[in-house]
Amino acid sequence: APAARVQNLVKTYGVGQAEVRALDDVTLDIHAGEFTAVMGPSGSGKSTLMHCCAALDRADSGSVQIGEHQLSGMNDKALTRLRRDEIGFVFQSFNLVPTLTAEENITLPISIAGKKPDRAWFDQVIATVDLGSRLAHKPNELSGGQQQRVAVARALVSRPSIVFADEPTGNLDSRSGAEVLQLLRSSVDEHGQTIVMVTHDPVAAAWTDRVVFLADGKIVDELRNPDRDQIL
Ligand code: ADP
Ligand code: ADP
Repeated sequence: APAARVQNLVKTYGVGQAEVRALDDVTLDIHAGEFTAVMGPSGSGKSTLMHCCAALDRADSGSVQIGEHQLSGMNDKALTRLRRDEIGFVFQSFNLVPTLTAEENITLPISIAGKKPDRAWFDQVIATVDLGSRLAHKPNELSGGQQQRVAVARALVSRPSIVFADEPTGNLDSRSGAEVLQLLRSSVDEHGQTIVMVTHDPVAAAWTDRVVFLADGKIVDELRNPDRDQIL
């Protein structure tokens, strides 16, 4: 089964003449253990697609399935539990808790879920994030790249079935961006993590297994094992 299955998804904003069809009949399978990029011009519906898939927003019609879970049939409480237990997010703006250390930010999803951290997995994630002594630092004492690595670690540590990353390298210089992409890539290669990443950047997309292109709320093209020159 796919990690996520999107079928005939439609989402509009506004009414009457102001109506915008942000998603216009999108059908897409996200394969388990793959790193998928979603690309497309600004306004093409990428964020809306991520939000509907990650149970942060509801579509008007069509369906989203995460693993075995059909989102449309679930109430808000069940969706909250699904987000907590099955889904990881990485946002462009990091979204770290400023009063907590890097390490506390990373363990937060586990504490919220009332789980005991799997120590071996936690150590592995921490090692990959490569923050060393800065784990005890607060976000404002970290560089942008380090903060985003913390955000990625936080998304990975509870072993979600799927991770959604909305332009995770959008605010980073190319070197920090590469560090974040390396971390995402190794979680796919070494741990079979499923990741969907929105990006504008062909260099970032070239790290993925598959690129899906959106335009005007529709999927218009797809590439497997992309290299940079194909995307540019
Ligand atoms: P992208 O992420 O590709 O830039 P979005 O999903 O953010 O695209 O937006 C798709 C379309 O929906 C755009 O025309 C955008 O202006 C519109 N849109 C997105 N969110 C809202 C909203 N909350 N209210 C009204 N229009 C929105
Ligand atoms: P991006 O293009 O980086 O995906 P946007 O700047 O389009 O992001 O959107 C950022 C946020 O603003 C999103 O949460 C989106 O839903 C919302 N948004 C986008 N377009 C509109 C709009 N026309 N009206 C209201 N909210 C919008």
